[in-house]
Amino acid sequence: MAKLDILKIGHPTLAKKAEPVTVFDKDLARLARDMVETLHAAPGVGLAAPQVDISRRLIVVDLSIGENPDELIILVNPEVVSREGEVVCEEGCLSVPDITEKVARPYRVRIKGLDLEGRETSVEGEDMLARALCHEIDHLDGKLFIERLSPLKRALVRKKLRKLREANVGR
Ligand SMILES: [Zn+2]
Repeated sequence: MAKLDILKIGHPTLAKKAEPVTVFDKDLARLARDMVETLHAAPGVGLAAPQVDISRRLIVVDLSIGENPDELIILVNPEVVSREGEVVCEEGCLSVPDITEKVARPYRVRIKGLDLEGRETSVEGEDMLARALCHEIDHLDGKLFIERLSPLKRALVRKKLRKLREANVGR
C-alpha cells in the first residue's frame, strides 16, 4: 500500500471531467486501496481519484475514517439516480485546505455504480453520507465545492485562498 499525494486547488486534473473506468484489474484494486489509505491518513471522509491525479471515475467514502470497515464505500463510475430534500451544512475538501463553507446538498441520495470487479451496486445515503457522496461525485465532473457557493461567497473564498497560497510561498 502507498500513500498518495493529494492535489490542491489550481491543479488542472481537479478541473477535468474524469473518464469512466473500463478495466477492472489489479491496478484498479490497488488504486482503490491506496486511496483508502490516503483518505484515512489525511484524515478525511471522502476522496475521488482526480484528487490523486488519476482522471478516472472512482471514489472512496468513509465517514468512520477507518474506525468501522462496514462504513467504507468504494464506487466505480458512480451516478446519482435520485435526490430528496436539501440540507445546508459546513463542508470542506482535502484539495481546498483551510476553507470550510456552508453548501446545500440533497438530504437523501441513491447512487448506482460498480464495484471493483465491475458488478453493479447501489448505495443510499442520508445527511452527511449523502453530502460526502455528492461532493466526491462532483470531483469526477471537475467541480470543487466552492463552485457551488454564491458568486460573492466564491470571490471571498478566492481571496482567502490567494492569501493562504502567498503565506505558503517558500514552504
Ligand atoms: Zn473534495
